[in-house]
Amino acid sequence: MGAGMAGSDAALAAARLGVHVDLFEMRPKVRTPAHQTDRFAEMVCSNSLGGEGLTNAKGLMQAEMRAAGGAIVTAADDARVPAGGALAVDRAQMAERVTERVMAHPLVHVHRDELAEVPSGPTVLATGPLTSDRFAESLAAHVGGSFLGFYDAAAPIVSFESIDMTVAYRKGRYGQADDYINLPLDEETYDRFYERLAEARSHTPHDWEKLEFFEGCMPIEEIARRGKETPRFGPMKPVGLEDPETGRRHHAVVQLRQEDAEGRMWSLVGFQTGLKWGDQKELVRMLPGLQDAEIVRYGVMHRNTYLNAPTLLNADLSLRAHPQHFVAGVLAGTEGYLESSATGWLAGLNAARYAQGLAPVVPPESSMLGGLTRFLSGANPDGFQPMNANWGLVPNAPKKDEHGRRMAKRDRREWMYHHGLEAFNAWLAGLQPSLPDVAPVPAHPEPVTPAVR
Ligand SMILES: Cc1cc2nc3c(=O)[nH]c(=O)nc-3n(C[C@H](O)[C@H](O)[C@H](O)COP(=O)(O)OP(=O)(O)OC[C@H]3O[C@@H](n4cnc5c(N)ncnc54)[C@H](O)[C@@H]3O)c2cc1C
Repeated sequence: MGAGMAGSDAALAAARLGVHVDLFEMRPKVRTPAHQTDRFAEMVCSNSLGGEGLTNAKGLMQAEMRAAGGAIVTAADDARVPAGGALAVDRAQMAERVTERVMAHPLVHVHRDELAEVPSGPTVLATGPLTSDRFAESLAAHVGGSFLGFYDAAAPIVSFESIDMTVAYRKGRYGQADDYINLPLDEETYDRFYERLAEARSHTPHDWEKLEFFEGCMPIEEIARRGKETPRFGPMKPVGLEDPETGRRHHAVVQLRQEDAEGRMWSLVGFQTGLKWGDQKELVRMLPGLQDAEIVRYGVMHRNTYLNAPTLLNADLSLRAHPQHFVAGVLAGTEGYLESSATGWLAGLNAARYAQGLAPVVPPESSMLGGLTRFLSGANPDGFQPMNANWGLVPNAPKKDEHGRRMAKRDRREWMYHHGLEAFNAWLAGLQPSLPDVAPVPAHPEPVTPAVR
């Protein structure tokens, strides 16, 4: 269902296994507020699939999708435009290529219709962030009611590694379990932070993106607009978070909440924001303990439809309660064109395997796709937000190399890249039945050569 980033990859992955695919796409009969054309895999905003290279988490996922023969990455490589270190594309050309490839496949039968209900057979649900209202309603009933988010109001997430724990301290409010990391602000730091926040720039919302903010999900910049003291009575409230060593109450405190089972990623509680990423970075780094913060995901605010994946999905992307139904793309709780296409590929593969009576598969933990789907099924369901490819999803590199020397951050990222890609290549090669036309991408090229696939 849906011929976007995820659905296009899913249809072709399933067809590659020799399975007949009925692909339903509602455009142009039913329009979304963001798509402009009737083409498949239309990019609704930026024209980039993210940064490339051996130290980039998206770079690893791109390489995995090249090895897997993913439809979106393959078309992106063909339609690329120069963009520094990013995989940016001519969006019209890319959509054209994907559409042609899908339409030309003898096993893919395209239906230009909206589906309002989940079909009973093996299906990939990939209707995206702008899922039609009728389908959203029936899907909510299918998965049990209140599991759909209707807009995305996400806070920035930082890596644990980059938090200065000599400044931050662990404590739960009013002495509850020490589940939170707290960042203390004195009055002067708070004043400076507030002034910077008050002048920070928002992404200009499109008309259709204008949101009615619910009180519990108000962006931090909106809270700040209500007055200098308002954040101190909201997400920066210091009460109950007195310093464990001195017993002193700080002027303000920002709390970080664990995002993944391993504790590699932490989000800023109550800091959902639509501020420009440059401003977000500056503001986050003004907070004591986050002066060197690595932001693994920026805050965003726009209309969105996605499932609470951790309560509903297995790591193979099937619904726990309906194993014949696989979910991919934004609907499955991912964020980004690349991540949507990669989960689409896996969901298509597994739906085809299901149709053939085979068990579903999950890529290895150290691969970016394997890390992402494990996160989706195992993340903290409380306030779950869609996730993109980042280094917090896969196990860390050792701190020292085989000679006992401390590895620099860059070297550790490269280690994770090589390790992840090697594991992914080996997993692909071992799939039974094997996938036709799989060509492993060498894990050690320098630089990465996108044409290899
Ligand atoms: C406004 C906006 C801007 C974004 N900007 C970016 C960005 O710049 N960069 C980025 O990486 N990500 C961005 N995203 C996030 C996301 O990565 C993209 O939306 C991506 O296209 C999601 O892929 P998808 O396959 O899940 O959904 P889509 O690509 O949207 O595909 C879903 C398809 O399903 C169809 N459909 C919906 N309901 C039905 C139905 N009932 N029956 C049949 N067909 C149906 C739709 O017409 C659509 O073609 C943005 C999202 C939004 C909402």
